[in-house]
Amino acid sequence: MMSEPTTVPPGGAPGGKASSAPLLGRDTEPTLFELSHAGRHSWSLRTTGIPEVPIDQLVPAGHRREKPVRLAEVSERDLVAHFTRLSHRQFSVDLGAYPLGSCTMKYNPKVCDAVAELPGLAGVHPAAPASLTQGWLGLFVELEEALCEITGMAAATLQPAAGAAGELTGLLLMRAWHEAQGQVRHKVIIPDSAHGTNPASVTLGGFEVVTVPSDERGCVNMAALAAVLDEDVAGIMLTNPNTLGLFEEDIASIAAAVHGVGGLLYYDGANLNAILGVVRPGDMGFDIVHMNLHKTFATPHGGGGPGAGPVAVSERLVPYLPGPRPARMDKGGTSPTYEWVTPPRSIGRVHTWHGNSLVLARALAYILANGGDGLKRIAEIAVLNANWIRQRLTGTYDVPFDRPCMHEVVLSARTMKHEHGVRALDVAKRLLEEGFHAPTVYFPLIVEEALMIEPTETESPQTLQALAESLERIALEANTEDSGWIAQFPHFTPVRRLDEARAARTLIPTFDARN
Ligand SMILES: *Cc1c(COP(=O)(O)O)cnc(C)c1O
Repeated sequence: MMSEPTTVPPGGAPGGKASSAPLLGRDTEPTLFELSHAGRHSWSLRTTGIPEVPIDQLVPAGHRREKPVRLAEVSERDLVAHFTRLSHRQFSVDLGAYPLGSCTMKYNPKVCDAVAELPGLAGVHPAAPASLTQGWLGLFVELEEALCEITGMAAATLQPAAGAAGELTGLLLMRAWHEAQGQVRHKVIIPDSAHGTNPASVTLGGFEVVTVPSDERGCVNMAALAAVLDEDVAGIMLTNPNTLGLFEEDIASIAAAVHGVGGLLYYDGANLNAILGVVRPGDMGFDIVHMNLHKTFATPHGGGGPGAGPVAVSERLVPYLPGPRPARMDKGGTSPTYEWVTPPRSIGRVHTWHGNSLVLARALAYILANGGDGLKRIAEIAVLNANWIRQRLTGTYDVPFDRPCMHEVVLSARTMKHEHGVRALDVAKRLLEEGFHAPTVYFPLIVEEALMIEPTETESPQTLQALAESLERIALEANTEDSGWIAQFPHFTPVRRLDEARAARTLIPTFDARN
């Protein structure tokens, strides 16, 4: 059998100063280019019998690079060791509790990966016709139906690649709907506690952001909302439970008020695990909902990994959904059962092919494995866990909104900062050394020294207890030790305290692939 190199040997790589010193336990990790040795490469077996076409027959002269791209030249053995070493320097959901609020970093069952790896799913070419991909289309339709049942909506698009992409899709749907009513509306209302992607999506969607403040309950200030509602409002974007982990108590009145001026209600359902099987956005009066399958329905995320942000809509918005959409055809038993259909007034594609389809396969596996009762139990335990943490740490940390929370709780290190000079950032850094990932800090923006903890439903009572004990120990240190001592943590993580501003502003280009 033929074999082919997986790295490009000629040209050499920059650096090239591979070290023979033991690499494990070093403070800094060499880059792959530093490990590079001219002429070393790895090999893999050819996967097809199709003969290779010389590059000059494929790409016209003016468009070909003059020199081969400079890649690191390493053996398979060095490559595996490099990435294994790096992986040991990471904290991940597979390693321990990761209470990063609003991110839903829960454990993802491996059975969902097993489903996504099935050759019959993973090996299908996206351009294969519907007649040959009935299984995939059936999977899409079944997932769409499940998501509609969960959210109380009429139909959904599975195309958007992530939550933010779903938001933009939803806003384009909002625009298309108003235009079909013969109206051009300019404003979209967002509460001040909203996730940062919301105002960004509103701006990208061509609308103007109107912010409404939260009141002392942590909910939308109804008087402030009434003051900004007029016929130029295209809609409102809400997260419910909101990013303070609190349920919007006035959601029915909000829906009535926004619909009253002809606006639409958009539901940011990134973190659906608070309400699964308990309450549905459709029943609360929402018209558009996006879901982060990679937060709620089992796909590992973070670091920019692939996600999926399907958008479900109420009946009146179905004609505008992105297309083509997979649809079940009722042809009285003749095949194919499923076909691609483009809605009459579709806003067009928002992703190539059919979205991140293997994320969709994982989500359906997760939903079916849990069933309706299981999904409800997920919500109950997610909410119970967050409230247990809230109750246990009340008094040790400030609790800005003293009422039952949903799937996450926002604490504050405000008193700690004012009395002892120990900030939320210090608590987060100190926690890393206790074996936990840090919570989200300084978000929502409206809470001073915010520590936003989302324990998720997958952590056991023992883990929650250990997390609470660590946070209590840190609080005790803050009260009794010199604040300079806490500011020195962490000691044993691969990197200690980064100068985040400098890291973002002074980029060091180590390698330019164009040369
Ligand atoms: C994560 C999140 C988003 C954005 O989702 P991405 O998939 O990261 O684009 C939006 N809203 C809320 C409330 C979130 O938690």
